[in-house]
Amino acid sequence: MEIIAIANQKGGVGKTTTAVNLAAALHYIAHKKVLLIDLDAQGNATTGVGVDKNALTYTAADVLIDDVSLAKAITPSSSGIDVVGANRDLAGIDMALAEVEDAPFLLKNAIKKATTKGKMDYDFVVIDCAPSLSILTVNAFCATKGVIIPMQCEYYALEGVVDLIDTIKKLSELNPDLYVRGVVRTLFDGRNTLAQDVSDELEKHFGNLMYQTIIPRNVRLAEAPSFGQSIFGYEKSSKGARAYHQLMNEVLNRIDEPSQSQAQISTAFAW
Ligand code: ATP
Ligand code: MG
Repeated sequence: MEIIAIANQKGGVGKTTTAVNLAAALHYIAHKKVLLIDLDAQGNATTGVGVDKNALTYTAADVLIDDVSLAKAITPSSSGIDVVGANRDLAGIDMALAEVEDAPFLLKNAIKKATTKGKMDYDFVVIDCAPSLSILTVNAFCATKGVIIPMQCEYYALEGVVDLIDTIKKLSELNPDLYVRGVVRTLFDGRNTLAQDVSDELEKHFGNLMYQTIIPRNVRLAEAPSFGQSIFGYEKSSKGARAYHQLMNEVLNRIDEPSQSQAQISTAFAW
């Protein structure tokens, strides 16, 4: 079972859009069994696959705070992807877990328990993180081996990534297997020369860690969530769908060669 966390503490960079549509590509195109875990109190990934976040019996908060089994919190969605949903119940989690000793490992342990009991049988788990480096994101980083970082090609893009990479490095103490699967450019507008310049900078900086796929700004990608659909359910011939299909291919190819990324992280992020 391959666990992928989608993270960047910067807001609005396309994390959720990437989580939902990568999960959907794995399901629709590669025919994989996929679980999407929403670790953001905004619940956008949950609604993005057509699940009513306010009608959930159990959410990720119940799993993390109240030790409800992960299997119980899984909701099937009409898109064919299963989801562990989230809503504002997740908002106070930092406080709730302040005194909990193994707080960083709650998600990891929940996944392990469900897997060993045979209650969870997925090829892929995709975790959508909140725009913060809170205990929720730490839980995602401890449950996964590999993180995908969506980045928007704008002037301040690199600033936040320094903190993110710093956190990933620090967390290697808790999770020695943690590595960056890749950095994906999102919301890209090729007519904007600044975006092009920043994109070139990112390539120089991150080298092979950059996915070659660039997710374009595409109105269909922005519309799909309001219909509770992934881009593959909403408009599978759109530019956005093609881009996420291509990204999925790259993600799958890299799974066979993680050591390359691991070697890259120490050089690419030494700044
Ligand atoms: P947050 O940090 O709040 O969780 P996020 O990083 O998850 O945000 P998204 O919610 O995926 O970002 O995207 C932010 C907004 O941009 C949303 O309205 C989304 O529909 C839109 N969006 C994301 N990617 C694209 C794209 N490639 N083309 C057009 N719109 C997009
Ligand atoms: Mg989001």
